[in-house]
Amino acid sequence: RATIEVAGLRKRFGHTMALDGMSFTVTPGQVTGFVGPNGAGKSTTMRVILGLDAADEGSALVGGRPYTGLRDPLRHVGALLDASALQPSRTARNHLLWLAHSQGLGAGRVDEVIEQVGLGSAAQRKAGGFSLGMRQRLGIAAALLGDPPVLMLDEPSNGLDPEGIIWMRGFLRSLAAEGRAVLVSSHLMSELEDTADHLVVVGRGRVVADTSVAGLLATA
Ligand code: ADP
Ligand code: ADP
Repeated sequence: RATIEVAGLRKRFGHTMALDGMSFTVTPGQVTGFVGPNGAGKSTTMRVILGLDAADEGSALVGGRPYTGLRDPLRHVGALLDASALQPSRTARNHLLWLAHSQGLGAGRVDEVIEQVGLGSAAQRKAGGFSLGMRQRLGIAAALLGDPPVLMLDEPSNGLDPEGIIWMRGFLRSLAAEGRAVLVSSHLMSELEDTADHLVVVGRGRVVADTSVAGLLATA
C-alpha cells in the first residue's frame, strides 16, 4: 500500500509551470529515488506534499490524508528540505533539544538521532561552525526526531564528501530496511541508481520514467 500518493499535481509560479501533472507513489520499505535536472519540480513536489506550497490542481496524500490533515504530522513525516534552518549559536545537541521541545516531540530521541547520523562526537559543537555535510546530517537528525515512518530528503548528498556520500547510501538503505518509506531527490542519477529500489525520473514538472531498479537492470 502506497504511503505517499501524488496524483496530477499542477503548480504555476507566474509564467513557470513548475508542476505539470506530477503523479507517483512511494511504498514503505523502499528507497524511492526522485531524479531529474534542476528545475524539474522535485522540491516543489515535496513542498506541496508537506503543505508548504499549495498546488493549483491534483492531490498529495500521506497515509491516505493530506499532510495538513494529519494529527501529529511530525510523527508521520520527517523532511529535509534544506540544511539552512538551524541556529548557528546553538550546539548541535541543543539545536535538536530546542526543536524537539518546540515541536512537542519530547527529548527522548535526541541522543539517539545524533548518534544515528554520525554526529556523536560533534554534539557539543556549535552548528554555525559546521560544514554543509554536517548541516545535512543535523537536518536529517531533526527529521528523525519524531521517528516517522515516512521520510522526504531533498538532495541530502549536497555538500557531502565522498565518504559522506557512501555513508548516506548505507543510511538510506537502513531507513528502508526498518520499513520506512523514503523519498530522496537528486539531480544525479549516479547518486541514486545503487541506492534506490525504485526510480521516479522527472523533467519539466512531470514524470518521464517510473520503474523499479530491478526492472531497469532487467531491460538493460
Ligand atoms: P527542482 O527541485 O527539481 O530543482 P523546483 O521544484 O525547485 O525544481 O523548481 C521547479 C520550477 O519552479 C523551477 O523553474 C523553479 O525556478 C520554479 N520555482 C520554484 N519555486 C518557486 C518560487 N517560489 N517562485 C517562483 N518560481 C519557483
Ligand atoms: P513558516 O510558515 O513559519 O515558515 P513552515 O510550516 O512553512 O513555517 O515550516 C517551517 C520549516 O519547517 C520549514 O523550513 C520546513 O522545511 C520545515 N518543515 C515543515 N514540515 C516539516 C516536516 N514534516 N519535517 C521536517 N521539517 C519540516
